[in-house]
Amino acid sequence: MSRSAHPAGPRHADVLPEGHPSAPPADLNHLDPKVWASTVARTPDGVVTVGGVEVTALAEEFGTPAYLIDEVDFRERARAWRTAFGADADVFYAGKAFLSRAVVRWLHDEGLNLDVCSGGELTTALSAGMPADRIAFHGNNKSVDEIETAIRAGVGRIVLDSFQEIVRVAHIAQSLGKRQRVQIRITVGVEAHTHEFIATAHEDQKFGIPLAGGQAAEAVRRALQLDGLELIGIHSHIGSQIFDMSGFEVAAHRVVGLLKDIRDEHGIELPEIDLGGGLGIAYTSADDPREPHEIAKALHEIVSRECEGARLRTPRISVEPGRAIVGPTAFTLYEVGTIKPLDGLRTYVSVDGGMSDNIRTALYDAEYSVALVSRTSEAAPMLVRVVGKHCESGDIVVKDAFLPADLAPGDLIAVPATGAYCRSMASNYNHALRPPVVAVREGEARVIVRRETEEDLLRLDVG
Ligand SMILES: *Cc1c(COP(=O)(O)O)cnc(C)c1O
Repeated sequence: MSRSAHPAGPRHADVLPEGHPSAPPADLNHLDPKVWASTVARTPDGVVTVGGVEVTALAEEFGTPAYLIDEVDFRERARAWRTAFGADADVFYAGKAFLSRAVVRWLHDEGLNLDVCSGGELTTALSAGMPADRIAFHGNNKSVDEIETAIRAGVGRIVLDSFQEIVRVAHIAQSLGKRQRVQIRITVGVEAHTHEFIATAHEDQKFGIPLAGGQAAEAVRRALQLDGLELIGIHSHIGSQIFDMSGFEVAAHRVVGLLKDIRDEHGIELPEIDLGGGLGIAYTSADDPREPHEIAKALHEIVSRECEGARLRTPRISVEPGRAIVGPTAFTLYEVGTIKPLDGLRTYVSVDGGMSDNIRTALYDAEYSVALVSRTSEAAPMLVRVVGKHCESGDIVVKDAFLPADLAPGDLIAVPATGAYCRSMASNYNHALRPPVVAVREGEARVIVRRETEEDLLRLDVG
């Protein structure tokens, strides 16, 4: 989730992104099911609906901008992951992608586990009734308070990220009279992103303990000596927005190699491996993500083959999809404010939100698509850049897309696939009020995270 995870680098502003339609789509009114939540449709009048509710009605009731999340789609995706991985594997939803109490309850209902990486996420999860033993606690710098809270709560596992943390968690567990189940997060020298991956000897990043130079093996040695820890497995997370399974193949090979070394040195076979998350979704029609059952099949095959080769019992696998579950289930609804054609360049369409509700375009050069959703139009396509209302020229939501040339202030437009890392990364820049998350299902809409108010802003400002 850093810029370096996207080594394609920033793209030249005047060039249409690779793989992005440089020509307008045949039908601007068409909503590609790849990028829109599963219940999204248009009425005969041309108004887009989600969960059977018209976006015009949603805008009237809840205002714009707003994140609209399709509950049925979320549950279906969660269930598809759960079913695909089956009884001998665990699916941990990565809460950092988007977490609220309603989401925790949906995950609980659908039999998923949950990853958290802060005290705030842990509190949210516990307060919504997620059993602690189904929670994994992550992070490269968990505070003593966070570790203590997690151990007291009885979290199912803490994923250890450094040598200091091995000792810290062991001491805290012991002082509480507990033995904490832990995994050690290692870096295997694989950097994966989208359609390619790089296998290297080293990884220059803050997460995990490098396999290179025997550091991971040393971490295992230390963890095994400490009474406060029960080492249950090895963890590896190789990147994000990945379509190519070959990065996982190299990672699994290296993780299993470590399990084998552990067996040879200590005479024990660790029972679990976690292969992380990072599976890609379609942000535009150019992306072709894999289905959970294909991913599960590929990962199970890779791990069993590697274990057979190493003559190890196949460990229990866990995976941690965040984006792949929540990303496609939501879209952001905006109202068009101003429209500024720049001759020979493009038309700037300003909406009532921006980088405060979707930082991914500015942060990662992320690609998105956009559609007119309050009506259809037969007007000619115009090349647009959808921008926000913030005091920053990099405040871009959709860099290059087409909208109908008759677009007018007051029209509603929507950006699909904003379920992951948009609300969770939202900010108050320019004292923007963070938008609500509205869950829609079977003709009914309800707020699951309310819109911030000016009172919320002033409540924090106590000077
Ligand atoms: C971010 C993260 C995930 C989830 O990544 P997605 O790209 O949302 O699937 C899973 N595991 C770990 C350890 C992470 O840091």
